[in-house]
Amino acid sequence: MHIPDIIIAIDGYSSTGKSSFARLIASDFSFLYLDSGAMYRGVTLMAIEKGLIDADCRIDIPGLSDALRTFDLHFSKTQEGSMTFIGDRCIEKEIRSMEVSSKVSPIAAVPCVREFVDMRLREFGKKKRVVMDGRDIGTTVFPDAELKIFMTADITVRAQRRAAEMAAKGETVPMEEVMENLRERDYIDSHRETSPLARAADALVLDNSRMTLQDQMEWLRGIIRERFGGMSD
Ligand code: C5P
Repeated sequence: MHIPDIIIAIDGYSSTGKSSFARLIASDFSFLYLDSGAMYRGVTLMAIEKGLIDADCRIDIPGLSDALRTFDLHFSKTQEGSMTFIGDRCIEKEIRSMEVSSKVSPIAAVPCVREFVDMRLREFGKKKRVVMDGRDIGTTVFPDAELKIFMTADITVRAQRRAAEMAAKGETVPMEEVMENLRERDYIDSHRETSPLARAADALVLDNSRMTLQDQMEWLRGIIRERFGGMSD
């Protein structure tokens, strides 16, 4: 199957299935997958552990900026796929906890945090054949991405997906709490000053409330065929 050397930027609200879709694209197209949310979550975990954010989400910005100077956050391939690491410590499970989820949006709104993450993401994008998901990939990180997708889904479907994902990892959280966290993050992400969550003017909207992952792949293949010409199997 021939897929052109492009960057696919996927943005959208929390728990719309961006990362599941992006992972499948990466494995079907042999692209590199980058989960930008995992980077913001990694910074948040570090801030919690160093006491740089308190229970009311007040952030020690000079302290955070200083800590980022030597912060070794990266992705590494493991037997279970690409995972997020701080140094040689795998943090993939901790960064999906409710505590990190409840603090990540305020942390992601801090300009020095966005600079830290953007710089790393752009480095990976130089080689193309990358699929990246987040909130501002098509608007800020890669405004020239050849293909931009903006994902959305019904809030109830999103909350069910997130609750199931957490339950699979052994964390049971009441549905109302999950929904409240999604609403809160949507609000902060869409209203922050630096790089707010927004649909790029040239992004295609994908509402996957009633679509399976395979339906989404079919949709994407159709778009690529249409845009970039013959894609032979
Ligand atoms: O995608 P995920 O839900 O894991 O992202 C966690 C948080 O990171 C989001 O709620 C958002 O606050 C932040 N984020 C962001 N910009 C991105 C990706 C994630 O602000 N490109």
